[in-house]
Amino acid sequence: MAKPSTINRDFNKAFKTGSSRKRPHMLYALCATSLLLISVLYFKFASATISAPSTENNLGSSNIISIALPESSELDSSQPKLNLPSTANKQQKPAVLLQDTSHPPSLAEADNWSEYTIKSGDNLAKIFKQKNLSANTLHKIIHANTKNNALKNIKPGQRIRFLQDSQQNFVALEYVIDRVKTLNIRANDTGFHSSIDEKPVKISHLTAAGTINNSLFYDAKQAGLSDRTIMQLANIFGWDIDFAQNLRQGDSFSLLYEAKYIDGQRIENGQILAAEFTNRGETFQAVRFVDNEGHAEYFSPAGKSMRKTFLRNPIDFARVSSHFNLRRKHPVLNRIRAHKGVDYAASTGTPIKSTGDGRIIYRSRKGGYGRVVIIQHGQKYSSLYAHMSKYGRYKKGSYVKQGQVIGYVGKSGLATGPHLHYEFRINGVHRNPLTAKFPSAKPINKKLLAKFKQQAGPLLAQLTLAKETQLALKQ
Ligand SMILES: [Zn+2]
Repeated sequence: MAKPSTINRDFNKAFKTGSSRKRPHMLYALCATSLLLISVLYFKFASATISAPSTENNLGSSNIISIALPESSELDSSQPKLNLPSTANKQQKPAVLLQDTSHPPSLAEADNWSEYTIKSGDNLAKIFKQKNLSANTLHKIIHANTKNNALKNIKPGQRIRFLQDSQQNFVALEYVIDRVKTLNIRANDTGFHSSIDEKPVKISHLTAAGTINNSLFYDAKQAGLSDRTIMQLANIFGWDIDFAQNLRQGDSFSLLYEAKYIDGQRIENGQILAAEFTNRGETFQAVRFVDNEGHAEYFSPAGKSMRKTFLRNPIDFARVSSHFNLRRKHPVLNRIRAHKGVDYAASTGTPIKSTGDGRIIYRSRKGGYGRVVIIQHGQKYSSLYAHMSKYGRYKKGSYVKQGQVIGYVGKSGLATGPHLHYEFRINGVHRNPLTAKFPSAKPINKKLLAKFKQQAGPLLAQLTLAKETQLALKQ
């Protein structure tokens, strides 16, 4: 009986997360110097007075700074680290020249701010009332600007700061939306002015490398990686390596990844930029590349996609309860009957994903299969998903993409309990979907290959360095 893989079943999810982030690194590098100056200024303001002036955020999404971390950072002192060219020393420049003095925060103003910590059961009306602010004021504020909609999502523990004049009239409000964003609202002659301040997120590049002695999770943690980054690593290589069953002692990995910092504190890891995994003597390398549409994907150094045309499993985190077996005793019929698919135990309602791009050619009840969907993938391949409790929104004849939900687990037809029965055919012949070789997804666009290789070169060089550093440390 196979053990469930909690690692490589989720590769698709991580891909989606990755692809939704656009990160044109070249631009950041260009902006880095000026942004640093601005961010230094911002911090000066914020620390000098409680009421940081509402700095109009013209930085947009570009206020991410590529910067090497100071050596003293405790967070990554435990792991081999690569020092990228640092721009940090630019902070020494006299930033004061850029200071915006159009809204000097007055001392009196700083004194009159009051802070309110949101409790469970609170709502804005209640909070405003407590601050002697009218329902009318609240109504006007909420409708003054779509940015103010953020106030509709207040959560217990969050803070709102109010500035009121001597008659308790509304002057300004500050709402810390999350670690990055703060909403500022200020009354003016025409109504209210709203802005959202975003703290600069600094991104540094870290490296890690290790050897498998226990398990991927254990050894990668020893190398200083977070669960999330380990998952990403497994997702990148999960198409080629069965992390649940095929890892061997002595397998090794190295990676170059982003870490995000706000106010000097590490908040989370970003994307893996390049990674290498050696499994049973075979080495796989992957480099992240963002195309012109902002879609991110991992490619081999030669430009081949790390993805395959088919997902290995149509359900995330599900246990295989019955394997492909041509001589199985059927649990309901109680006689030898080939099991020409794989069963996944999962609770009723668990989403079932199409394992590849294709067209739904069947979506109906069919004898023992119960509610079943069959998808044709090009000429050669087809996949079948049985015992559904209900179908997804795609009808017969529609095209679906890999990973789209085509139905939900159930026990319709001949089934002892809720599970998915999944079949995969090549040229009409049933194959074991857990072991079948799948073709790679589309390689990198030829027009982008040169650009990709140009970017990949230095990243792979840093990987090599990380590996060598790790080896040197061991000796
Ligand atoms: Zn089955």
